[in-house]
Amino acid sequence: MTGTGQVKRYVEKGTIFVFSLLICVYGYADTTADGYHRLRQGMIEEIEADVRATSLYIDKEALDDRVMRIMGEVPRHEFVPDNAKPHAYENRPLAIGHGQTISQPYIVALMTDLLHPKPDHRVLEVGTGSGYQAAVLAGLTEHVYTMEIIEELAAEAAARIKRLGYDNIDSRMADGYYGWESAAPFDSIIVTAASDHVPPPLVKQLKPGGRMVMPVGGRFQVQQLMLIEKDQEGGIKTRQILPVRFVPLTGGH
Ligand code: SAH
Repeated sequence: MTGTGQVKRYVEKGTIFVFSLLICVYGYADTTADGYHRLRQGMIEEIEADVRATSLYIDKEALDDRVMRIMGEVPRHEFVPDNAKPHAYENRPLAIGHGQTISQPYIVALMTDLLHPKPDHRVLEVGTGSGYQAAVLAGLTEHVYTMEIIEELAAEAAARIKRLGYDNIDSRMADGYYGWESAAPFDSIIVTAASDHVPPPLVKQLKPGGRMVMPVGGRFQVQQLMLIEKDQEGGIKTRQILPVRFVPLTGGH
Protein backbone atom coordinates (compact mmCIF):
# COMPACT_ATOMS: atom_id res chain seq x y z
CA MET A 1 0.00 0.00 0.00
CA THR A 2 1.40 3.34 -0.98
CA GLY A 3 0.09 6.82 -1.62
CA THR A 4 -1.02 9.85 0.28
CA GLY A 5 -3.56 7.94 2.47
CA GLN A 6 -0.83 5.94 4.18
CA VAL A 7 1.50 8.92 4.48
CA LYS A 8 -1.34 10.86 6.11
CA ARG A 9 -1.89 8.03 8.63
CA TYR A 10 1.83 7.99 9.48
CA VAL A 11 1.77 11.74 9.93
CA GLU A 12 -1.32 11.46 12.17
CA LYS A 13 0.26 8.72 14.30
CA GLY A 14 3.46 10.73 14.54
CA THR A 15 1.60 13.82 15.61
CA ILE A 16 -0.27 11.93 18.34
CA PHE A 17 3.01 10.42 19.57
CA VAL A 18 4.75 13.80 19.72
CA PHE A 19 1.80 15.38 21.55
CA SER A 20 1.70 12.56 24.12
CA LEU A 21 5.40 12.98 24.67
CA LEU A 22 5.01 16.73 25.18
CA ILE A 23 2.22 16.15 27.70
CA CYS A 24 4.46 13.70 29.59
CA VAL A 25 7.39 16.08 29.61
CA TYR A 26 5.74 19.48 30.13
CA GLY A 27 2.04 19.34 30.79
CA TYR A 28 1.72 16.93 33.66
CA ALA A 29 2.07 18.00 37.24
CA ASP A 30 0.30 16.15 40.01
CA THR A 31 -1.36 19.04 41.82
CA THR A 32 -2.62 17.05 44.82
CA ALA A 33 -1.01 17.63 48.24
CA ASP A 34 1.02 14.44 47.78
CA GLY A 35 1.93 15.46 44.26
CA TYR A 36 3.16 18.85 45.41
CA HIS A 37 5.17 17.18 48.16
CA ARG A 38 6.90 14.96 45.60
CA LEU A 39 7.52 17.89 43.24
CA ARG A 40 9.00 19.86 46.15
CA GLN A 41 11.44 17.02 46.88
CA GLY A 42 12.50 17.17 43.23
CA MET A 43 13.08 20.90 43.60
CA ILE A 44 15.27 20.26 46.65
CA GLU A 45 17.45 17.88 44.63
CA GLU A 46 17.81 20.51 41.91
CA ILE A 47 18.82 23.16 44.44
CA GLU A 48 21.41 20.76 45.90
CA ALA A 49 22.80 20.13 42.42
CA ASP A 50 23.00 23.90 41.69
CA VAL A 51 24.77 24.46 45.00
CA ARG A 52 27.38 21.85 44.10
CA ALA A 53 27.73 23.31 40.60
CA THR A 54 28.38 26.80 42.04
CA SER A 55 30.47 25.71 45.03
CA LEU A 56 33.50 27.67 43.79
CA TYR A 57 31.50 30.91 44.03
CA ILE A 58 29.73 30.21 47.29
CA ASP A 59 32.56 28.46 49.10
CA LYS A 60 30.52 25.48 50.24
CA GLU A 61 29.20 22.19 48.85
CA ALA A 62 25.86 22.29 50.68
CA LEU A 63 23.61 24.88 52.29
CA ASP A 64 22.61 24.89 55.94
CA ASP A 65 20.30 21.97 56.92
CA ARG A 66 17.72 24.28 58.50
CA VAL A 67 17.49 26.30 55.27
CA MET A 68 17.05 23.20 53.12
CA ARG A 69 14.46 21.77 55.50
CA ILE A 70 12.31 24.91 55.30
CA MET A 71 12.69 25.00 51.48
CA GLY A 72 11.21 21.50 51.57
CA GLU A 73 8.24 22.70 53.61
CA VAL A 74 7.06 26.09 52.30
CA PRO A 75 4.29 25.54 49.72
CA ARG A 76 5.67 27.57 46.76
CA HIS A 77 2.52 26.70 44.76
CA GLU A 78 0.53 28.93 47.14
CA PHE A 79 2.63 31.93 46.10
CA VAL A 80 2.24 31.77 42.31
CA PRO A 81 -0.71 32.58 40.02
CA ASP A 82 -3.06 29.67 39.21
CA ASN A 83 -1.71 29.18 35.69
CA ALA A 84 1.83 28.78 37.09
CA LYS A 85 0.94 26.22 39.78
CA PRO A 86 2.00 23.18 37.70
CA HIS A 87 5.43 24.86 37.39
CA ALA A 88 5.69 25.99 41.02
CA TYR A 89 8.47 23.53 41.88
CA GLU A 90 10.61 24.03 38.81
CA ASN A 91 13.95 25.58 39.70
CA ARG A 92 13.34 28.86 37.86
CA PRO A 93 11.78 32.30 38.40
CA LEU A 94 8.07 32.65 37.57
CA ALA A 95 5.98 35.70 36.62
CA ILE A 96 3.73 37.01 39.41
CA GLY A 97 2.17 39.93 37.51
CA HIS A 98 3.03 43.65 37.27
CA GLY A 99 6.25 42.72 35.46
CA GLN A 100 7.68 41.13 38.62
CA THR A 101 8.92 37.62 39.38
CA ILE A 102 9.21 35.19 42.25
CA SER A 103 12.92 34.30 42.36
CA GLN A 104 14.44 30.97 41.36
CA PRO A 105 14.32 28.53 44.34
CA TYR A 106 18.12 28.04 44.25
CA ILE A 107 18.59 31.83 44.62
CA VAL A 108 16.02 32.02 47.44
CA ALA A 109 17.83 29.21 49.28
CA LEU A 110 21.27 30.74 48.67
CA MET A 111 20.29 34.25 49.81
CA THR A 112 18.58 32.81 52.90
CA ASP A 113 21.69 30.77 53.72
CA LEU A 114 23.94 33.85 53.32
CA LEU A 115 21.90 35.68 55.99
CA HIS A 116 22.79 33.03 58.61
CA PRO A 117 19.23 33.16 59.99
CA LYS A 118 18.82 32.31 63.69
CA PRO A 119 15.62 31.61 65.67
CA ASP A 120 15.90 34.90 67.60
CA HIS A 121 16.58 37.08 64.54
CA ARG A 122 14.49 39.97 63.27
CA VAL A 123 14.85 40.34 59.50
CA LEU A 124 13.95 43.05 56.99
CA GLU A 125 13.06 42.14 53.42
CA VAL A 126 12.80 44.76 50.67
CA GLY A 127 10.70 43.48 47.74
CA THR A 128 7.88 41.30 49.13
CA GLY A 129 6.65 40.29 45.66
CA SER A 130 4.65 37.10 46.24
CA GLY A 131 5.68 36.79 49.91
CA TYR A 132 7.51 33.49 49.30
CA GLN A 133 10.95 34.63 50.47
CA ALA A 134 9.33 36.21 53.54
CA ALA A 135 7.60 32.89 54.32
CA VAL A 136 10.91 31.00 54.03
CA LEU A 137 12.57 33.46 56.44
CA ALA A 138 9.57 33.37 58.80
CA GLY A 139 10.16 29.64 59.28
CA LEU A 140 13.74 30.28 60.40
CA THR A 141 13.59 33.48 62.45
CA GLU A 142 11.55 35.25 65.10
CA HIS A 143 10.10 38.02 62.94
CA VAL A 144 10.13 39.20 59.33
CA TYR A 145 9.35 42.76 58.21
CA THR A 146 8.73 42.94 54.48
CA MET A 147 8.15 45.93 52.21
CA GLU A 148 6.69 46.14 48.70
CA ILE A 149 6.35 49.23 46.51
CA ILE A 150 3.60 47.98 44.13
CA GLU A 151 0.27 48.41 45.88
CA GLU A 152 -1.54 45.42 44.32
CA LEU A 153 1.34 43.02 45.03
CA ALA A 154 1.62 44.29 48.60
CA ALA A 155 -2.11 43.76 49.14
CA GLU A 156 -2.10 40.27 47.57
CA ALA A 157 0.94 39.20 49.57
CA ALA A 158 -0.55 40.53 52.83
CA ALA A 159 -3.77 38.55 52.23
CA ARG A 160 -1.81 35.42 51.30
CA ILE A 161 0.44 35.65 54.38
CA LYS A 162 -2.67 35.96 56.57
CA ARG A 163 -4.55 33.11 54.84
CA LEU A 164 -1.57 30.77 55.22
CA GLY A 165 -1.36 31.61 58.93
CA TYR A 166 2.08 33.25 59.20
CA ASP A 167 1.83 35.30 62.39
CA ASN A 168 5.46 36.46 62.51
CA ILE A 169 5.46 38.49 59.27
CA ASP A 170 4.61 42.20 59.12
CA SER A 171 4.17 43.59 55.64
CA ARG A 172 3.65 47.10 54.37
CA MET A 173 3.42 48.96 51.11
CA ALA A 174 6.28 51.46 51.00
CA ASP A 175 9.55 52.31 49.28
CA GLY A 176 11.98 49.91 50.91
CA TYR A 177 15.01 51.99 49.94
CA TYR A 178 14.49 53.88 53.20
CA GLY A 179 14.00 50.75 55.29
CA TRP A 180 11.62 50.37 58.22
CA GLU A 181 12.90 52.85 60.77
CA SER A 182 10.48 52.06 63.62
CA ALA A 183 11.37 48.34 63.60
CA ALA A 184 15.15 48.84 63.16
CA PRO A 185 17.84 47.71 63.85
CA PHE A 186 17.71 44.31 62.13
CA ASP A 187 19.90 41.22 62.52
CA SER A 188 19.81 40.83 58.75
CA ILE A 189 18.43 42.53 55.65
CA ILE A 190 17.60 40.99 52.28
CA VAL A 191 16.88 43.07 49.18
CA THR A 192 15.32 41.09 46.33
CA ALA A 193 15.55 43.79 43.64
CA ALA A 194 18.73 45.18 42.07
CA SER A 195 20.17 48.65 42.55
CA ASP A 196 23.40 50.25 41.32
CA HIS A 197 24.34 50.95 44.95
CA VAL A 198 23.65 49.64 48.43
CA PRO A 199 21.03 51.94 50.03
CA PRO A 200 22.73 53.80 52.93
CA PRO A 201 19.52 53.86 55.03
CA LEU A 202 19.51 50.04 54.99
CA VAL A 203 23.16 49.76 56.05
CA LYS A 204 22.31 52.13 58.89
CA GLN A 205 19.42 49.91 60.01
CA LEU A 206 21.65 46.81 60.19
CA LYS A 207 22.84 45.75 63.68
CA PRO A 208 26.56 45.49 64.44
CA GLY A 209 27.45 41.90 63.50
CA GLY A 210 24.54 41.90 61.03
CA ARG A 211 24.47 40.53 57.48
CA MET A 212 22.79 41.91 54.38
CA VAL A 213 22.42 40.39 50.90
CA MET A 214 21.35 42.15 47.75
CA PRO A 215 21.95 42.16 43.99
CA VAL A 216 24.02 45.17 42.96
CA GLY A 217 24.27 46.39 39.37
CA GLY A 218 22.66 48.76 36.90
CA ARG A 219 19.55 47.96 34.88
CA PHE A 220 21.44 46.79 31.81
CA GLN A 221 24.57 45.57 33.52
CA VAL A 222 25.52 42.26 35.01
CA GLN A 223 24.47 42.31 38.64
CA GLN A 224 26.44 40.72 41.43
CA LEU A 225 24.87 39.18 44.47
CA MET A 226 26.65 40.98 47.33
CA LEU A 227 27.10 40.06 50.95
CA ILE A 228 27.50 43.09 53.20
CA GLU A 229 28.72 42.48 56.76
CA LYS A 230 28.75 45.03 59.56
CA ASP A 231 31.29 44.33 62.29
CA GLN A 232 30.90 45.10 66.00
CA GLU A 233 32.52 48.52 65.53
CA GLY A 234 30.19 49.40 62.66
CA GLY A 235 32.78 48.78 59.93
CA ILE A 236 31.49 47.46 56.59
CA LYS A 237 32.93 44.58 54.58
CA THR A 238 31.46 43.58 51.21
CA ARG A 239 31.95 40.44 49.17
CA GLN A 240 30.76 39.51 45.66
CA ILE A 241 29.11 36.11 45.62
CA LEU A 242 27.98 35.41 42.05
CA PRO A 243 26.40 37.05 38.98
CA VAL A 244 22.58 37.18 39.08
CA ARG A 245 19.63 38.79 37.30
CA PHE A 246 16.95 40.60 39.30
CA VAL A 247 14.20 43.09 38.53
CA PRO A 248 15.23 46.69 39.38
CA LEU A 249 14.77 48.40 42.72
CA THR A 250 12.44 51.27 41.86
CA GLY A 251 11.23 54.20 43.94
CA GLY A 252 12.15 57.76 44.60
CA HIS A 253 15.83 57.61 45.53
N1 SAH B 1 11.00 38.32 47.16
C1 SAH B 1 9.93 38.18 46.19
C2 SAH B 1 10.37 38.43 44.77
C3 SAH B 1 10.68 39.83 44.57
S1 SAH B 1 10.69 40.51 42.96
C4 SAH B 1 9.26 36.83 46.29
O1 SAH B 1 9.66 36.00 47.09
O2 SAH B 1 8.28 36.63 45.58
C5 SAH B 1 11.19 42.12 43.53
C6 SAH B 1 10.08 42.92 44.16
O3 SAH B 1 10.64 44.12 44.64
C7 SAH B 1 8.98 43.31 43.19
O4 SAH B 1 7.74 42.90 43.66
C8 SAH B 1 9.09 44.83 43.15
O5 SAH B 1 7.85 45.48 42.98
C9 SAH B 1 9.68 45.14 44.50
N2 SAH B 1 10.35 46.43 44.61
C10 SAH B 1 11.09 47.09 43.68
N3 SAH B 1 11.56 48.25 44.17
C11 SAH B 1 11.11 48.34 45.46
C12 SAH B 1 11.26 49.31 46.49
N4 SAH B 1 11.95 50.46 46.31
N5 SAH B 1 10.68 49.05 47.70
C13 SAH B 1 9.97 47.93 47.91
N6 SAH B 1 9.78 46.98 46.95
C14 SAH B 1 10.35 47.17 45.75
